[in-house]
Amino acid sequence: MIIDIPSSSSFENVANNLLLSAWQNLVKLFKSYEKFEELKHYDPDLIDQEKLDMFWRFERPILDSSLSLVQQAVEFYLKGRIVGVSPFLIIGKEPRHWPNGCNKTDISFSEFRTIDAQDLIKVHDTVAENKLSPTFANFYSELRKKRNAIMHTVDSNLTVAPEELATSILTVHSEMIGERRWIKSLVSLLRSSTQYHILKDGVSDSDSYVYAECHEDFALVVNNLKPSLVKKFFNFDKKTTSLECHHCIGIIENCEFYDTKWLDDYIPTLQKLETEIGRYRCAICENEFYFDSTPCEDCDRISIASEDGKCVWCKDS
Ligand SMILES: [Zn+2]
Ligand SMILES: [Zn+2]
Repeated sequence: MIIDIPSSSSFENVANNLLLSAWQNLVKLFKSYEKFEELKHYDPDLIDQEKLDMFWRFERPILDSSLSLVQQAVEFYLKGRIVGVSPFLIIGKEPRHWPNGCNKTDISFSEFRTIDAQDLIKVHDTVAENKLSPTFANFYSELRKKRNAIMHTVDSNLTVAPEELATSILTVHSEMIGERRWIKSLVSLLRSSTQYHILKDGVSDSDSYVYAECHEDFALVVNNLKPSLVKKFFNFDKKTTSLECHHCIGIIENCEFYDTKWLDDYIPTLQKLETEIGRYRCAICENEFYFDSTPCEDCDRISIASEDGKCVWCKDS
């Protein structure tokens, strides 16, 4: 009998973590790039535009391997969905190629070869209730071709732009988990990270690290992506005025190492919703608040909560 049969959710979990690794590589690169940009600003003799342009060429291996993580994530998501129908559908090869003695003794599922990556979409679309969209199937085929070319050749013309990596991560997540749900997933992935669990027993509120990281990542990605992509993947309008989210900042302030300087790296995340006057939604915590249009007399912010007429920033002072 086959034992240790994996569940659909264990595949999805691995896939989510592969996307998280690719995302963390990307934001780390954006962060270093911004540091060099700052240096160029303060000392143009030390760093000029030519040197700055070299940054992405030097960081090519990280961009390449991160794109490969995204491609592997798609494989795991697809396998997870197929396993949801029946785990035996992903066993590849004919019975004569199955592990020796598998009919005589209990054998782990991991001993079996699984179906080839190129057959995953065909198998998925044959057995799953909802087929993949043709656009996504095409995207995945291109992603796989590019990843294979990058990994198996040393063609220096094949480059992965940071924006392409960001788009790939977010496109995959949208198709597999749902549209514009990356930040929600990021929060829960960070909550299951080692750092979170180690800090959980410490003095700090460990959620403060989760929200601090989400705000820092969000600012880096929004600053480095085109407005149309930011709108598409986060429903966030780069061109409109936004307000700081008191709920998120309230959580981040609980960190024992909190420094107001951290706020310099964030962008305001509360944006007015068009559906109702005075209603704002935070792109990170996803909470919605109603504010009066008159600013607070003390702090001058649009922050008077309609529900109690008090300023969300000044009410405790
Ligand atoms: Zn918030
Ligand atoms: Zn106020």
